Amino acid sequence: MFLPDLLKGKRILVTGGGTGLGRSMAERFLELGANVVICGRREEVLKETAEALGKSTGGEIETVGCDVRVPDAVEAMMDTIWQKRPLDILVNNAAGQILAQTHKMSTRAIDAVLGIVLHGSAYCTVAAGRRWIDAGERDKVVMSILTVSSLMGAPFTVPSAMAKAGVLAMTKSLAVEWGPKGIRTCAIVPGPFPTEGAWSRLMPAARGGNEEMVKTIPLRRVGEHIELANLAAYLVSDGAAFINGDAIVIDGGKMLQSGGGGASTQTMLDWTDEQWDAIRPKRK
Ligand code: NAP
Repeated sequence: MFLPDLLKGKRILVTGGGTGLGRSMAERFLELGANVVICGRREEVLKETAEALGKSTGGEIETVGCDVRVPDAVEAMMDTIWQKRPLDILVNNAAGQILAQTHKMSTRAIDAVLGIVLHGSAYCTVAAGRRWIDAGERDKVVMSILTVSSLMGAPFTVPSAMAKAGVLAMTKSLAVEWGPKGIRTCAIVPGPFPTEGAWSRLMPAARGGNEEMVKTIPLRRVGEHIELANLAAYLVSDGAAFINGDAIVIDGGKMLQSGGGGASTQTMLDWTDEQWDAIRPKRK
């Protein structure tokens, strides 16, 4: 799909790159010639991932343990990364998510989600952006991984929706503020992509599992990691150098299925021909 050296020479940090979609993006970036750094809190997980991806792709991958909620830890991580070579691309992917009735959530739980997604993305973005701007470096990219809830809201994952909407606002604002300085921003809005993290937190069996959820997606399937990883590779590449401030949805049309005709059309998707015939006006 891409030239094998699409990302050659690019140094990319993927936050939360030890697992799930972050890991899949890291793998694709390595295959396409990038030098990749992954961060997260569990250093063991990072090391295992780096070893596996280094072996399978033959690419250069480094790990840095970092809790993105802690400003000093983010600064220390960026110093470590910059000591070797400045970054070209930051991918804000680390996230936390809690499925709960909002009125029963503790303030600690709310802070935890806002801390990782909203503050963590802001700390990483500002830490990288400041270094680029101070050094007068151009052709840099900040890409953030959002959720459909950042555009539409979402009951029962309200702190996450609030935080992702904030990261979308950051993406749009910095596109204008930092664009003239040679730093562009963009975002991906994924629909459902099975990962251990998201599925264990958001798809309890009580919710009907995969089968019920797939009915809410026009393409009647969940996403494949390679589909998102390819979109990510394109968006951070020089080929997408004129895309600035936009958020691209990749969800099989899920967001649209619940819009327009709304809930009443949902049930009609399962109607039989007989049910449709029964409501057809009869010719006199
Ligand atoms: P995941 O596997 O749970 O990934 C989350 C990653 O974030 C983990 O590697 C985790 O590592 C890291 N992380 C969490 N808290 C952190 C912190 N304080 N500091 C640094 N790293 C931290 O989940 P995923 O499904 O791949 O999600 C990846 C991204 O895609 C997220 O932004 C998510 O909102 C978005 N997304 C996913 C889906 C989906 O269907 N999977 C749909 C829409 C959006 P540690 O625990 O070791 O820190």
